[in-house]
Amino acid sequence: MKDQSWQARADAHSFYGFTDLPTIHDRGTVVVTHGEGPYIFDTEGRKYLDANSGLWNMVAGFDHPGLIAAAQAQYARFPGYHAFFGRMSDQTVMLSEKLIEVSPFADGKVFYTNSGSEANDTMVKMLWFLHASEGKPQKRKILTRKNAYHGVTAVSASMTGKPYNSVFGLPLPGFLHLTCPHYWREGQPGETEEQFTQRLANELEATIIKEGADTIAGFFAEPVMGAGGVIPPSKGYFPAVAKILKKYDIPLISDEVICGFGRTGNTWGCETYAFMPDAIISSKNLTAGFFPMGAVILGPELSDRMQAASEAIEEFPHGFTASGHPVGCAIALKAIDVVMNEGLADNVKRLSPRLEAGLAQIAQNPNIGELRGIGYMWALEAVKDRETKTPFDGSLSVSERIANACTDQGLICRPLGQSVVLCPPFILTEPQMDQMLEKLEAALKKVFAEVG
Ligand SMILES: *Cc1c(COP(=O)(O)O)cnc(C)c1O
Repeated sequence: MKDQSWQARADAHSFYGFTDLPTIHDRGTVVVTHGEGPYIFDTEGRKYLDANSGLWNMVAGFDHPGLIAAAQAQYARFPGYHAFFGRMSDQTVMLSEKLIEVSPFADGKVFYTNSGSEANDTMVKMLWFLHASEGKPQKRKILTRKNAYHGVTAVSASMTGKPYNSVFGLPLPGFLHLTCPHYWREGQPGETEEQFTQRLANELEATIIKEGADTIAGFFAEPVMGAGGVIPPSKGYFPAVAKILKKYDIPLISDEVICGFGRTGNTWGCETYAFMPDAIISSKNLTAGFFPMGAVILGPELSDRMQAASEAIEEFPHGFTASGHPVGCAIALKAIDVVMNEGLADNVKRLSPRLEAGLAQIAQNPNIGELRGIGYMWALEAVKDRETKTPFDGSLSVSERIANACTDQGLICRPLGQSVVLCPPFILTEPQMDQMLEKLEAALKKVFAEVG
C-alpha cells in the first residue's frame, strides 16, 4: 500500500524551495496545521514556539482575531479587484493614505505588488523608466551589498548578494555588490569601526567614480541585513553612504521588508539608523503575514518625477493583477493599527533589552563568536575559536544541528551560515521569551558538546 503519511504525501508532490534536502530525508517534513499566538502545531500534534515569526512576517502571531475579522469582513464586502485602467478599491486608497502618513516622508505615493521581490523588481523598473524619461537611458546599474537579500525574481535575485544565485547564472550584468558592512567579519586587523565605515564609504565613492554616476540607477540597502545573517550596519554607515549618494544624485532605496513596522524598535529601520531614503520597500510585516503583499513607497521627490515621466508617455506600463488587492489592503490597514496602536511595537521596545540581556548571557559560551542584532532580530554566530574567529568546519553543519536540536525541544529557529537567527513575533511575552532562551541554551550546549 502507498505510504499515506503527511511526510510521504509532502515528498510526493510538493517541490521544496530553500530546504536542505539531506535534512528532510533524515528528519522529515514538519507539516503544520494551525497556530496559537507565537506557537504552531503540526500533524503529529507537536507544538513549537516559532522564534522566527514564520519567515519574519507573522509579527502578530498565528491566530490574531482582529486580523482574521478584518479579512473576513473584507471578503464579505468585496473579495477582489485590481488597480488598472483608473479603477482601484476604496481599501487601496485608504492604505496608501495610511502608508504615507506613517512613512518618514512628508508626502508621496504607493505602488502595490504581491511580494517583496516584486516590490524591489518594480522599484528597479521605476528607476530605469524614470532615468530614461529624463534623458539618461544609460543610468541603469544597481548597487547593493554582498550578503544582501532582496528577493528571488531574476532582478531581485541579481540584487541579492549571495553566492547561491550563481547556479542560475545570476547576477545579471549591471548589478554590482559592495562590501558588507559587517565590522566583526570584514574589519581588518587594527582597523577601528569608524575607519571600517570610512573604508566602505570610500569604496562606494570610488565605485561611483569608476563606473560613472550617470550609469548608476540606484543604491538599495536593508537597514539591518536580514537573510544575510542579521547584520546591523557598522557605526555611522548609513549617514556616510547617504551623503555620497546625494552628492552623485543616486537614489537611496531602503529595503524595509523585514525592518519596517517595528522590528528594530522603531517604525522604520531608516529611523533607527538616522537616514532619509528616497523610497521604501515594504512587505512581510505589512500584512503581519496574513496576505501576500508588497509596496513601493515613494518619497515626494521620486513621486513627482515618476508622475512627470508617466504623464510624458501617458501611463506607467506596469502592474500585477492582484496589485492593491482589497482584502490585502484591508488586512494591512488592520495590521498597521494592531502593530502601532495595540501595543506590539511597544512590546518590542520594552522587551528587547531583556531579550538582548538573555542572549548576551548565552553568548558567553566560548563557541559563540558574535551576538548581533537590535530590537526583535538577533543572530548568534558559532565559532570553533573565538579569538581567531575561526568557523567550524562546514561539513559539521553546526548551525543546522543547533536548529535541529531546538526543533527537537519545540523551538523553531533558523540556521543561516554559521549563525542561528531569532526574530520572534512582536507579541512574545516575558515567560515565552524565557522559555525560548532556555531551549536555545540547552540546544547550544548539546551541540557544542558534540562538536567542540
Ligand atoms: C523576504 C525579503 C524580500 C523578498 O520578499 P518576498 O516576499 O519573499 O519576495 C526582499 N527583501 C528583504 C529585505 C526580505 O527580507
